[in-house]
Amino acid sequence: MAVEAVESRTTASSSGSAFGSAFGPAVALSCRECGERSPLGPVFACASCFGPLEVAYELPTGDPEELRRRIEAGPASIWRYAPLLPVAADVAERPNLNPGLTKLVKADNLARELGVTGGLYVKDDSGNPTHSFKDRVVAVAVEAARTFGFTTLSCSSTGNLAGAVGAAAARAGLRSCVFIPHDLEAGKVVMAAVYGGDLVGIEGTYDDVNRFCSELIGDPLGEGWGFVNVNLRPYYAEGSKTLAYEICEQLGWRLPDQIVVPVASGSQLTKIDKGLRELVALGLVEDRPYKIFGAQAEGCAPVSAAFKAGHEVVRPVRPDTIAKSLAIGNPADGIYVLDIARRTGGGVEDVDDAAVVDAIRLLARTEGIFAETAGGVTVGVTRKLLASGALDPELTTVVLNTGDGLKTLDAVAAGPTATIRPTLDAFRAAGLQGR
Ligand SMILES: *Cc1c(COP(=O)(O)O)cnc(C)c1O
Ligand SMILES: [Zn+2]
Repeated sequence: MAVEAVESRTTASSSGSAFGSAFGPAVALSCRECGERSPLGPVFACASCFGPLEVAYELPTGDPEELRRRIEAGPASIWRYAPLLPVAADVAERPNLNPGLTKLVKADNLARELGVTGGLYVKDDSGNPTHSFKDRVVAVAVEAARTFGFTTLSCSSTGNLAGAVGAAAARAGLRSCVFIPHDLEAGKVVMAAVYGGDLVGIEGTYDDVNRFCSELIGDPLGEGWGFVNVNLRPYYAEGSKTLAYEICEQLGWRLPDQIVVPVASGSQLTKIDKGLRELVALGLVEDRPYKIFGAQAEGCAPVSAAFKAGHEVVRPVRPDTIAKSLAIGNPADGIYVLDIARRTGGGVEDVDDAAVVDAIRLLARTEGIFAETAGGVTVGVTRKLLASGALDPELTTVVLNTGDGLKTLDAVAAGPTATIRPTLDAFRAAGLQGR
């Protein structure tokens, strides 16, 4: 398998970084489209072709056993993988939220219900400090922000990112000012505001918020600001690789056969693939085929639509779904998601809002995990892909739950079975005794 992302280029490193060892094994930024390299810096688009930049490394060579032992002896957070991330070796010692190493739950009850016999796992990222996977990406972006000397941390967010940035900035002692669509769930708004930074609601969709932030970056108004998912995006995105590392380590240093990943901008899915390929290239896991499946909500399914139509490009849509954390109508990494789904033999599928709610209930009822709507999307899509035969029930399958149901309470109408006076007679009359 070609692994251009981890190819070692001594020339790049000897050209040197202006930032010493602050970026650890990272040696340059590299254009995903034309491959041109540029020095590490707060830039996100290729100077030659405007393609997206990603971090290129000179990863550790040598005995995989040694590296594996070093990782296993490391901190109980994403920083155990610091040798594979654009961060300094001593990153864990700086004030940060120490996200990651969330549970990989063997979901036997759900497996029985869905007819999966090859082992079904839920990677439950609701266990992160601000209850979504976004703490991973923000933690890496904050390190880059510190190195570049940014004093204000910012982002355009569908909700979870705003909370993760607010919390991480508070802990790191940075100012934050974050932007969200004005009509988000109350749980997300409170989470974004409570850490004391500035929160701005924008009258428009996420795509409007994102466009606004791109303008702000080019304006003196945004000077000294690190937007984690815009001018710090190459570093931010690398944080998602830790999901791949953790899943493999928690499976006993083994690749899963099939992974179902939610798709908003598509960044997370593309970096999970990058992380898996790195583990193979480093000899930390045995090279076997794996399939990656993307999951979207029907009300915002531009990548799924392109996949099904056999298109190479993604046509933007206007989102209308309860899965607001995934409501990006013009996904920046959509075309790369298509590439990966096709290359690995996976796919991209979507489910409607009713199926999202059903799936949230199913996961809660079978495994005691209360997912946010994005988790309902991945579980719902898993069910649909099993029914269509696209997912093989006899293979090891990992489904991501990327957020906490407490943030999207309105999606699920659940309440008491009965409300009664505090007497045994009233309880008897409710008919809940025995069984
Ligand atoms: C941001 C987010 C994702 C994935 O986002 P990408 O932009 O595709 O990386 C998935 N789930 C939740 C809950 C999120 O907040
Ligand atoms: Zn380029």
